Amino acid sequence: MVLDVKYPTIDNLACEEKVVFLRADLNVGLDESGQIRDDSRIRAILPTIQDLQKKRAKLVIASHLGRPAGKPNPKFSLLPVARRLAELLHVEVIKPDDCVGFEIKKLIAELRDKNIILLENLRFHHREEQNHDVFARQLAQYMDVYVTDAFGSLHREHASTVGMVRYFKQRAIGRLVEKEIAVLSRLLTEPQKPFVVVMGGAKISDKIGVIENLLNTASHILIGGGMAYTFLMAQGVDVGASLVEPNKIKLAQKILQRARFKSVPVHLPVDHVIVPDISHGAPQKIVSNNDNWSNQKGVDIGPQTVREFSDVLKQAQTVFWNGPLGVCEIEDFRKGTYAIAGAIAQLNAFTVVGGGDSVSAVRKSGVAENISHLSTGGGASLKFLERSVLPGLKALL
Ligand code: ADP
Ligand code: MG
Repeated sequence: MVLDVKYPTIDNLACEEKVVFLRADLNVGLDESGQIRDDSRIRAILPTIQDLQKKRAKLVIASHLGRPAGKPNPKFSLLPVARRLAELLHVEVIKPDDCVGFEIKKLIAELRDKNIILLENLRFHHREEQNHDVFARQLAQYMDVYVTDAFGSLHREHASTVGMVRYFKQRAIGRLVEKEIAVLSRLLTEPQKPFVVVMGGAKISDKIGVIENLLNTASHILIGGGMAYTFLMAQGVDVGASLVEPNKIKLAQKILQRARFKSVPVHLPVDHVIVPDISHGAPQKIVSNNDNWSNQKGVDIGPQTVREFSDVLKQAQTVFWNGPLGVCEIEDFRKGTYAIAGAIAQLNAFTVVGGGDSVSAVRKSGVAENISHLSTGGGASLKFLERSVLPGLKALL
């Protein structure tokens, strides 16, 4: 249902000399000294900004950053983002101290050339996350057109993503959201085959809807990470003290059954890195499914699994990957995740990675350049693949 909808795009807008409110996701990571660690979220919205500038719009951009808990806090100011945006676009980026109020009107009136206003952090107001109507109206007050390119925030029902939208006749999605929808829809409807899905991460319960939907189009499903242990347990394997969701074992069995019914092979890990406790420097052992795990925890896929998964991946024309294949925050346990990232990056295929931790693992492993599409929405990409209605998209219709 979600996939048949055509959302209005920038091409549909008449915005010459109009004030365009652009909701973006500029929630970049900052280090202790306030420097931007990774500016990819800023770069991701440049096409939208440039296309709106070509249409001679006056641009007012808004975003959240971090979790300032509803009050102003200089640690979460968008000032570093404004500076980077100015460098990237070679224009002046004006950053007021707030995101609402009379000052904004003044700044809009003074806006010249291709200069841009970047509003201060939306979450300096607790009414943003409450989707409070008074705040929604304040945000909409001096604006003529609403555009959202905040793909990573579309699953949230906030004043800037949902509440304010009703106050606009002209509404559209930006280029980034357009691209995300196109790429993710294709995975659900007509991926070029063979289509290999790689799922990992901590829990099955977070990903059940995604797996079920992708079963309709996948040629193979590879499962690793924490969720693999519930599947293995469902097949009677002793997984020691690994992360297991006992109340999801039946569900895992149901998924395996459905996959068999649809003739989609599900590949589970055949060997594992196990440790007595999940910490850096813990003594590691490699075990197979039939070995004695001596009540230890599985923290990564083993070398034989890496080989088997890589072999399946070799034939792929399309790949979707979500969820690290081990506890990759800890250096000792990221070999499997990085090896699979490398295997996917080498393919001559359409490759998509989604999910916050997965995308950051791909970046850290250094192969991001060789992935066709890194989805910018962690939770939102998964919701989309579950075919859930994203409130921020629904609001546009
Ligand atoms: P994404 O953010 O890409 O959707 P998730 O949040 O679902 O991914 O999964 C990431 C988490 O999964 C990481 O915190 C990682 O430590 C955890 N994880 C992966 N493998 C295991 C494992 N074997 N045991 C426990 N946790 C794991
Ligand atoms: Mg995560």
